[in-house]
Amino acid sequence: MKNIPIVIDFVVNNDLCIGCGLCVYKCPSKALDMRFNELGFLVPELVDDCDLDGACITVCPFNINPLAEIKSENELANNFLNETENSHPKIGKYKNIYAGYSEEHRLTSSSGGMATFVLTDLLQRGIVNHVFSVKKGTEGGAHYEYAISNNKQELLKGSKTRYFPVTLATVFSQLDKLNGNVAIVGVACFIKAIRLAQFSDPLLKEKIPFLVGIICGGVKSSFFTDYLSNKSGVENKQYTNPNYRIKNFDSSAGDYSFGCTSVITKEKKSIKMRHVGDMWGTGLFKANACDFCDDVTTELADISVGDAWLHPFVENGRGDNVLVTRSNLAEQIIKEGIANNSLKLEKLSLDQFLASQKGSFNHRHKGLPYRVKRANSKGQLTPPKRILIDESSFFFKIVQFFRLKTRQRSIELWKNNPYSLNFDAKIKTLLSVLKFATRLNHKFNSLKTKLKSEN
Ligand SMILES: Cc1cc2nc3c(=O)[nH]c(=O)nc-3n(C[C@H](O)[C@H](O)[C@H](O)COP(=O)(O)OP(=O)(O)OC[C@H]3O[C@@H](n4cnc5c(N)ncnc54)[C@H](O)[C@@H]3O)c2cc1C
Ligand code: SF4
Ligand code: SF4
Repeated sequence: MKNIPIVIDFVVNNDLCIGCGLCVYKCPSKALDMRFNELGFLVPELVDDCDLDGACITVCPFNINPLAEIKSENELANNFLNETENSHPKIGKYKNIYAGYSEEHRLTSSSGGMATFVLTDLLQRGIVNHVFSVKKGTEGGAHYEYAISNNKQELLKGSKTRYFPVTLATVFSQLDKLNGNVAIVGVACFIKAIRLAQFSDPLLKEKIPFLVGIICGGVKSSFFTDYLSNKSGVENKQYTNPNYRIKNFDSSAGDYSFGCTSVITKEKKSIKMRHVGDMWGTGLFKANACDFCDDVTTELADISVGDAWLHPFVENGRGDNVLVTRSNLAEQIIKEGIANNSLKLEKLSLDQFLASQKGSFNHRHKGLPYRVKRANSKGQLTPPKRILIDESSFFFKIVQFFRLKTRQRSIELWKNNPYSLNFDAKIKTLLSVLKFATRLNHKFNSLKTKLKSEN
C-alpha cells in the first residue's frame, strides 16, 4: 500500500487545504503535484512515492499540529516583524495605516493600484529582480496562475484581483534557478506558508526580502467564475478572459461588474455584481479552509493592501486602497511615494481601518469559535486558532450555521449539475433563510444596543 503524505492525510482529507502549493515545493521526494479537484479547488495529489519524512506539513498554513514557536500568526510575527511599533489583537503588528491610491496604477487596478505600485517600486529600486504575481494563464491551462515578472512591463500584466484558485507551486519550483531576489504578492494563508518556509530555511529570508499581502475575505472555487460567466450570458464554460472587477469610474466603488469574452462569438459580456446578489456574505462557492482562517489583514506581510470600503472612499468608482505597513522598507516606499506625488494617501485611524473590514472581522473572528466547535463536534480536525472564546449570540450562531450550509450546498449543486438554470432556484430557499436569519440578528443587535443606551 502507498504511503499517504501527511498533508493529504491531515489537511486535504479534512477539507482544510487552500492550495498554496508550498508542500509540493518542500517535498524532497517530489511526490506531490497540484491538481484541480472535483470541487473546483487546487489541492496536492500524490504523483510519486512518499517516504513520510513530513517535510510537507512544516510549511502548511493549515497544519493542525504546528510547533509551539510557529503555532499561529502571533508567534510567526515575532520571528519576522521586528520593526513595528504598534500591535492590535485584530490586525497584529503594524507601523502605520493609510488609505488612498497610486496616480499611475489606479485606473488599471482593482482598488487604488497600491499592490502594483509597491511591486514596481521594489523592482525599480533593485531590491528584487523578480516578482511572483497572478497573471493570465498559459494557453489551454487555467484562466489565471502565478507567474514570474522580471521587469515593469511584464509585471503590469498582473494587475487586478483574480477570484480564481491559484498556487505558488509552479513559481516556487523555479525559485532556486532565479538569479537575484524575489518579491511575492499573496493572500494571508499563502504569505503564512512562505513565512513557514522561511522559518525552516533561513536562506529563503534573503531570497524573498519583501511580501505584499492581499487583504482577503476568502478564496472561491473555479465554479464561481463558471457561475458568473453563465450569469453574464456565456454558457457551458465557453468563455475566456474573466475580469472580476470592471470599475465604473462615474459611480461608486461597489458598482463594479464581472466580464468575460465568448470563445465562440468573441463577444464581450458583462454583468453588474450587484445584480448577481451577495456573493461574499453568503459564503457561496467559498473554500472550507477560509472558515478556519483568522488572519483578516495578512498580518505577516511587509505591507497589506485591501479595498477601502469606507466613507468617503466608497463613493469613488475609480478605487482606493486601505494599507497597513509593517517594515521600514514598506514605510519608506510609501513616504517617498507621497513626497514625490506618485501616491495620494492619507493616514487612517485604527478605528476607521477596522470599520473598513467590519464584515470580515465579524465573520472571521466573532464567528470562528462557533465554527471550530461545530467542526470538532463532528470529528473534523482544525488548526490551532487564536480566538476561542465564543461571545456570539444565538441569532449570530444561526447565521453562521446557514452560511456553512450555503457554502457547502452551492459547491455540491454546481458539481452535480453545472450550468443548470436550476442552480439559482435550488439555492434560493437557503439564501432566503440566511437573509432572514441575518435580519433577525441585526434586529437583535439593535435592540441590545438600545437597551444598553437606556440603562
Ligand atoms: C481572493 C481575494 C479576496 C479578497 N478579499 C478582500 C476583502 O475581503 N477585503 C478587501 O478589502 N480586499 C479584498 N481583496 C483585495 C482587493 O480585491 C484588491 O486585490 C486589493 O485591494 C489590492 O488592490 P490594488 O488595486 O492595490 O491591486 P492591483 O494593483 O490591481 O494588483 C493586484 C495584485 O494582486 C495579485 N493578485 C490577483 N489575484 C490574486 C490572487 N487570487 N491571489 C494572490 N494575488 C492575487 C495580482 O497579481 C496583483 O499583483 C481580495 C483579493 C483577493 C484576490
Ligand atoms: S494548504 Fe498548502 S501546504 Fe497545506 S496541503 Fe494545501 S497546498 Fe499543501
Ligand atoms: S480567507 Fe484566509 S484562508 Fe481563505 S484564502 Fe483568504 S487568507 Fe487564505
